[in-house]
Amino acid sequence: QAHILGPEEHGIDPKLVSPNAIRLTQTLQENGFKAFVVGGAVRDLLLGVKPKDFDIATDATPEQVKKLFRRAFIIGRRFQIVHVMFGQELLEVTTFRGAGSANAPKDEHGRVLRDNNFGPQHEDAARRDFTINAMYYDPATQTVLDYHGGIADIREKTLRIIGMPEARYREDPVRMLRVVRFAAKLGFTIEPTTRAPIPVMAPLIDNVPAARVFDEMLKLLLSGHALACLKELRSAGLHHGLLPLLDVVLEQPIGMKFVTLALESTDARVKAGKGVSPGFLFASLLWHQVLEKWTAYRAAGESPIPALHLAADDVLETQTDNLALQRRIATDMRDIWAMQPRFERRAGRAPYKLLENPRFRAGYDFLLLRCESGELDKEIGEWWTAFYDAEAGERERLVTQAN
Ligand code: ATP
Ligand code: MG
Repeated sequence: QAHILGPEEHGIDPKLVSPNAIRLTQTLQENGFKAFVVGGAVRDLLLGVKPKDFDIATDATPEQVKKLFRRAFIIGRRFQIVHVMFGQELLEVTTFRGAGSANAPKDEHGRVLRDNNFGPQHEDAARRDFTINAMYYDPATQTVLDYHGGIADIREKTLRIIGMPEARYREDPVRMLRVVRFAAKLGFTIEPTTRAPIPVMAPLIDNVPAARVFDEMLKLLLSGHALACLKELRSAGLHHGLLPLLDVVLEQPIGMKFVTLALESTDARVKAGKGVSPGFLFASLLWHQVLEKWTAYRAAGESPIPALHLAADDVLETQTDNLALQRRIATDMRDIWAMQPRFERRAGRAPYKLLENPRFRAGYDFLLLRCESGELDKEIGEWWTAFYDAEAGERERLVTQAN
């Protein structure tokens, strides 16, 4: 019952397909198994975009896949997959999942806890999230298998969930966040029945383990379309009680300058292919909260640096409980915040010492955001830029001049 499209119909450019994905599917097929590129990679290929990673679907079991490749590792519990390494490239191989979610173990809200029932390919297609994510590409025959009208939806730029939306969100509430992420990232319209239940069902996200929500949030924020995603979250009614972090960010007027600037610069970096550190991102998103508490502690008589540490403690404490902010990210955030008052000391050796701090660059970028948002006088950012760029002699002159 799949619609089968040949190369002239789907128009996929074979040069965009990873040679390792071709080798991997070929090896599986030579051993008598079915094997396809699946999911996001097929979607991107159909959109003419080079996929950033390739997922493979097969009827071979994880054990059978593992035997065929030298560097293959079975991972995951809730959802077992095989990681196959070819040089630097990691490919994820998933065995077709059956429709048996009726029998799958669930929590008291109907959320599926484990999904390792294997099944036929058409059932695998039906349990994927969106029509545009449920197509299979066979590099050997260059055909696309489309079970749910994904091709038509790609052409109409429509994001449509497969099956009954309410049931699909109940099984896995994270799908509501994925709707928003894909709509913003691809510039697609959310089909009305896919969208309608989201505001009502949003509270189900509270029952999902925080680490999984956090992973999905991170994907959203690092998608290169963070600003668009956050606007979409609001308009889909997902901005209440979702995550303490999002509450803080989204309850601020969207024009909030600092957050907007931070997200714009994140989006620009992602689009330019530069790295973005999650620590920097979250330090920016929560800076306003830190500032408020910092001011309060100082007003209560603390001196500036201890006051800042107390403020950081307060903010990180609420966030790490609820958000599963990894310790490493929290440490980066604290370093970036703690550096800020040091930028105001421009006498003697202080600026030289700050320059030697291994996290200087992140702290300095953060300082520039504060200047740009109008929180700090632009002069201080300009001074640090000059100091950072200058030769030794010039630095001495800048320090003298500043005092
Ligand atoms: P991206 O480009 O962001 O990686 P993707 O579509 O590849 O997009 P992944 O999270 O890598 O997204 O998932 C791979 C595929 O697995 C999806 O295309 C979809 O078919 C399926 N999938 C992932 N998450 C879910 C989910 N929560 N429910 C149902 N199917 C899912
Ligand atoms: Mg993917």
